[in-house]
Amino acid sequence: MALITKKIKGTEDVLPRQSYRWQFIEKIMREEASAYGFREIRTPVFEHTELFARGVGQTTDVVQKEMYTFDTKGGESVTLRPEGTAGAARAVLEHALENEGLPIKASYFVSCYRYEKPQAGRLREFHQFGVEEYGTQSPAADAELICLAQSVLDRLGLTEVRLEINSIGCPECRAKYNQALRDYFSQYKDQLCTTCLSRLEKNPMRLLDCKSPEDHKIAEGAPIITDYLCEECEAHFEQTKKYLDSAGISYEVNPTIVRGLDYYTKTVFEFITDCIGAQGTVCGGGRYDGLIEELGGKHLPSLGFAMGLERILMVMDAQGVEIPQPEPCALYIATMGDEAKVKAFSLLRQVRECGLQAETDVVGRGLRAQMKYADKIGAKYSLVLGDNEIAENKANVKNMDSGEQTELALDESFAEKFSVLSLTDKAGFEI
Ligand code: ATP
Ligand code: MG
Repeated sequence: MALITKKIKGTEDVLPRQSYRWQFIEKIMREEASAYGFREIRTPVFEHTELFARGVGQTTDVVQKEMYTFDTKGGESVTLRPEGTAGAARAVLEHALENEGLPIKASYFVSCYRYEKPQAGRLREFHQFGVEEYGTQSPAADAELICLAQSVLDRLGLTEVRLEINSIGCPECRAKYNQALRDYFSQYKDQLCTTCLSRLEKNPMRLLDCKSPEDHKIAEGAPIITDYLCEECEAHFEQTKKYLDSAGISYEVNPTIVRGLDYYTKTVFEFITDCIGAQGTVCGGGRYDGLIEELGGKHLPSLGFAMGLERILMVMDAQGVEIPQPEPCALYIATMGDEAKVKAFSLLRQVRECGLQAETDVVGRGLRAQMKYADKIGAKYSLVLGDNEIAENKANVKNMDSGEQTELALDESFAEKFSVLSLTDKAGFEI
């Protein structure tokens, strides 16, 4: 029985006292995405397994080792989404969104599920904010996406996050490059991990992304993709960099980033920090011009990025970025007697309709305990409602900080007057 009060390994709760932190970053992400013209898409948490197998790629770690896959009672194989792109791409196809005009721009917040080894910054259920753009080949779109990610990180107040970019070319340049990689890694066949060995033929670029330290070391001496780019890919990369320069965004070209999905083409990028340990990539993205075709659609060049929300919050903590605390209760109404309890309801409704937070006792505390509670929740004002106040139809509103009292009528003007009082109070509270 003890098991049912323990969360599953690799998952986290967000408690009421912590959720304002999530709401803060999500709000900034929504605002920035909207400033760049993205609108939110919401897709199901599970999809046909085949979608991820094709949309993420058969040779990826995610598909080979990490998916939460199960058969439904109807005998279908479904998978909890390991990332947000495949579901969005499926929705684009299913609803023929390309008919509504190009480019299609969608942003999302998703929970993701990957059976990985839980550690700092690596969970089995984690959350991403991401954007997707479909139907543009232009390097301006690549640069714009990177600008958006940078704007989000800047507005969150993060510093010391570096941007690394690369181009991994198109299938044409990749064919030559893959051969060069096969030739190179074949010399080390007896030292590679079994996963890498199995990928050597099919998708040798995966070897550059291997997390095993020995393989990583070997990968350091591998040929670099930028030496194999075709003219078009080279021009695309140069133009993307030009736009970034013009926007004042600094970056480093890192020819070893290849990203996790199989269908990435041309631009790939990561935002990385060293302040939270080994899991320092807070955002990853790039272009995947072949994805929609791979899923059975027309050629629809696309791109996107995803940010790990848990990692972003970890970086904010590590860098001491302050997240504004939620507003405390504006008015606590303490009650004495049944009639007061009833009257409190009409006053509370009025105050809340003015957009202010207001509370009263709902657990049956005595007056002293109610006032203690008001103090504990940091209420800015309190009001004691008893038989006298009801008989006279007025009561004193007390500033909990200064102790100053102001008499207000308990009629339909109450909330408005309270609102003005709390905004203009000499004690300097701001609501
Ligand atoms: P990593 O190299 O760290 O495994 P990835 O390449 O698998 O990352 P993506 O699939 O590109 O990651 O996901 C985008 C972002 O989601 C990552 O940059 C990271 O911030 C976050 N992320 C990925 N996997 C996890 C996880 N298991 N737990 C928490 N956050 C994660
Ligand atoms: Mg991973």
